[in-house]
Amino acid sequence: MVNISLFAQDSIDGLLPVRGFCIAAPRPDNLEPFIQFIDNELAPRKVNTLVLRVDWNYQYKSYPQLQDSIALSKAEVKQIVETCRKHNIELIPHINLLGHQSWHSTTLNLLREFPEFNETPHIEMPEEYKWPNEDGLYCLSYCPLHPEVHDVVFAAMDEIMDVFEAKIFHAGMDEVFYIGDDKCPRCRGKDKAELFAGEVRLIRDHLAQNDRELWIWGDRLIDGATTGMGMWEASMNNTYRAIDMIPKDVVICDWHYERPDPTAVYFAMKGFRVITCPYRNPDVAVEQMNNMITWRRNSTAQISERFMGMMQTVWSDAEQYLDQFYGKRPPRNQDENSVACFKKLFEAMNKETIE
Ligand SMILES: [Zn+2]
Repeated sequence: MVNISLFAQDSIDGLLPVRGFCIAAPRPDNLEPFIQFIDNELAPRKVNTLVLRVDWNYQYKSYPQLQDSIALSKAEVKQIVETCRKHNIELIPHINLLGHQSWHSTTLNLLREFPEFNETPHIEMPEEYKWPNEDGLYCLSYCPLHPEVHDVVFAAMDEIMDVFEAKIFHAGMDEVFYIGDDKCPRCRGKDKAELFAGEVRLIRDHLAQNDRELWIWGDRLIDGATTGMGMWEASMNNTYRAIDMIPKDVVICDWHYERPDPTAVYFAMKGFRVITCPYRNPDVAVEQMNNMITWRRNSTAQISERFMGMMQTVWSDAEQYLDQFYGKRPPRNQDENSVACFKKLFEAMNKETIE
């Protein structure tokens, strides 16, 4: 462990420029408590970046059929925008692109409404989802080479970026298991790394037309076999070589929940800006933060500035999280959960730094 009080002369912005929090966007009936959570919990802890997983929880005008049955209105989104602006919090909307187009036995909105975009239409959705399964079905993907898929996803992306008045978009792109399927007439036989990189580049280029920036999760860019990190937090389906094929201005959200893996160094040395993302283990999160600070300190100026900071991730919905946060609902694990992790990480961050 590094004694980060050595660096106490640095401001928190110097030590960790990005102090992020990532959670599902609230549903309309939970908007008011969520705004209070930003006011009373995020802002005082010096969170300056909020990634909101909006996905289809917005009343889209471009493709209204994509929206969830209960979804945020434009006026409701503007309340979040105003709250974040008041606290100088960078608000970053997220829509899961490429992978995560189903969850368990439910096909999610994009492929439900546009089944022709499905990379693996031959896979039948199970009545009762189990992992592992014969089809290797974790989540469906869309086909990145379908000629019409980007008309739809870019329209949704542009709309959400406008309503959130955002400069940065988070496209997810994690845990893509179905890619370059042998039965896809467009993708079969193609290099999966090139397919993944091609999709990243396309999204990045579209955003860049309006001076907007792309963030993605980093797992598909790490070699799961060589690192021993496996198929979830790294890639076992040959996408990892895409790290050398995608534009360097894409920001990597490097998630590791069980160990403080030094993968941020790998991304930074490849030329990417990187943010380390913990989830539920408070000790791991604090160690990850100390590593970030050490690496910023010990690197050349070029590499140092790529270690951008930390982002707490939350994988329950916003309402559940707030209930856990305020003790209205017990966490599944008392010691390791995303409330305990967030509190300890940001306590450590704020204690060891001065303005
Ligand atoms: Zn395809």
